Amino acid sequence: MITGKLYIVSAPSGAGKTSLVKQLRNEVDKLVVSVSHTTRGMRSGEVHGSDYFFVSVDEFKTMIENQAFLEHAQVFDNFYGTAQKTVEDNLAQGLDVILEIDWQGAQQVRKMLPDSISIFILPPSIDILKQRLKNRGQDNDEVIARRMRDAVTEMSHYPEFDYLVVNDDFNLALSQLKSIIIANRLLQSTQQQLLTPLLQDLLN
Ligand code: GDP
Ligand code: ADP
Ligand code: 5GP
Repeated sequence: MITGKLYIVSAPSGAGKTSLVKQLRNEVDKLVVSVSHTTRGMRSGEVHGSDYFFVSVDEFKTMIENQAFLEHAQVFDNFYGTAQKTVEDNLAQGLDVILEIDWQGAQQVRKMLPDSISIFILPPSIDILKQRLKNRGQDNDEVIARRMRDAVTEMSHYPEFDYLVVNDDFNLALSQLKSIIIANRLLQSTQQQLLTPLLQDLLN
């Protein structure tokens, strides 16, 4: 049975990871995006169960006690976590899974699943990052200031990631993400399992 690959995508808030990953999911088959649990308030337009599972701090703590998380972390002033079971079920079905998580979560996942592949998305400049957070129109000035303060800490972790993608031109960044996934699907170790009958045929 061939299992899927686990991708970690991190970036400072506003770099464009959610927009890129949403589009990627539309364009690449057999790819699912993990829906995190969070204690932050719902933004307008967000849907429970689709963007996040929005839970109370108590519900989140119960999930920690029940060891329901593959990883969890405090990001800005809220808790975020990835439920373990759904990720494992999807991987077991042969689907590739993307986690959109922060650098702390990335460290935890790498430790537990060393075969995971991690991608860091950078903005083209600090000014553009700030502008994107403002244009998104979802966070007040205080929240934006907090996110900008944490952006440098988040970005300082880029050396821990396998791939770096700059999200300047959206379509270029999207095609680069696609290339990473396709190249990993073509790895000899993966292809060998998928192509066993062909290889046997060709070599006999
Ligand atoms: P956005 O990335 O600016 O849209 O902001 P969000 O509020 O969606 O996410 C806030 C931070 O939480 C980001 O740095 C995410 O990478 C991180 N985050 C989201 N989901 C998870 C998760 O399941 N686990 C962890 N560890 N971090 C998460
Ligand atoms: P993140 O999930 O990393 O916080 P988002 O996907 O919410 O980031 O993107 C932040 C804002 O920047 C959104 O309003 C989005 O439409 C916009 N955006 C994303 N990528 C680009 C890009 N390449 N050029 C211009 N704007 C972008
Ligand atoms: P936002 O509040 O803007 O939706 O997300 C802020 C940050 O939280 C994002 O940059 C995202 O990477 C991170 N985040 C979202 N979900 C998770 C998660 O499940 N685990 C971790 N560790 N970080 C997450």
